[in-house]
Amino acid sequence: MELTGKVIRSTRSQYVVYQEGKRYTCSVRGKIAGAPDGEGFSIKVGDDVRIRKISDQEGVIERVLPRKSKLSRAVGGRFYREHIIATNIDQMVIIMSVKKPAFKSGLLDRYLVIAEKNGLSGVICINKTDLAEENQFSEYADWYPRLGYPVYFTSAIEEVGLDHFRKALKDKVSVLVGHSGVGKSSLVQKIEPSLNLKISEISEKRKKGKHTTSFVELFPLSFGGYIIDTPGVRELGLWDVYRDELKSYFTDFVNQAGQCQFKDCSHINEPGCAVKAAVSSGEIFSQRYRSYCQMYHDLKTMPYELNPL
Ligand code: GDP
Ligand code: ZN
Repeated sequence: MELTGKVIRSTRSQYVVYQEGKRYTCSVRGKIAGAPDGEGFSIKVGDDVRIRKISDQEGVIERVLPRKSKLSRAVGGRFYREHIIATNIDQMVIIMSVKKPAFKSGLLDRYLVIAEKNGLSGVICINKTDLAEENQFSEYADWYPRLGYPVYFTSAIEEVGLDHFRKALKDKVSVLVGHSGVGKSSLVQKIEPSLNLKISEISEKRKKGKHTTSFVELFPLSFGGYIIDTPGVRELGLWDVYRDELKSYFTDFVNQAGQCQFKDCSHINEPGCAVKAAVSSGEIFSQRYRSYCQMYHDLKTMPYELNPL
């Protein structure tokens, strides 16, 4: 019997495929149908696959379905190689806290650039609202959704905003990112209590160096969807982003960019810059422009130099 499931975990030669609450340990035999040509194809966490069941817990992967997206990082060294962390991720959920650690606009925008670069939707969750002043984040709640990035406010401690947050994750494959201490584990524990333990176990092992950094796992959510254990922040550096292409990931600049005096305007110092004019007139959120300038200056011009967050 054949069925379609999702690879949630992979070890050297075996894959755990999940389908409707069941896990199948699967192997691969010979060539995988559906695999793109080229050397070194391998099945990744996140791949949707057809498997042939050989028992209640075991199967053989027969075919890999086309990938919708992939999250990659460069492998260090002078000549970078792409390393696929996971495939078919729908969205990057960026978790920030209002304080402790302090809210950092620049960091938020860096994550959003990485999301754009990888073709993922960006979703913003601002946690620890119990520590916020009233209206402290109204500008963010106002601006970001207009750029296509929904903003959720939560307090894991006071259990506020969790239903909305759950809906944002439902039926999607989400990668959760955010600095340590912002409340990722607390949020996960509140929305899916059974998951928390597993995730913290993995983080612990990773701290002790028992797993390589390429170890990732998808966790099925009981209400539908998956979350992916956060790859290290460093692994999601702005690899492979050239200075010159940075502006294309600021989708809020795109409307104005065509109207700059110079076609290849970097929006930094050029005269007749329509982006700068739009910042002055309030059509572009000034904080976004500040983040852009900061990143522009930080970015090295060569792709193989990693730029950790
Ligand atoms: P992680 O490193 O992102 O997984 O963060 P944790 O979930 O471990 O949380 C870090 C600290 O922030 C812990 O002491 C939590 O109790 C606290 N914390 C998490 N969520 C909230 C919240 O909504 N409000 C407040 N005040 N503290 C929180
Ligand atoms: Zn310009």
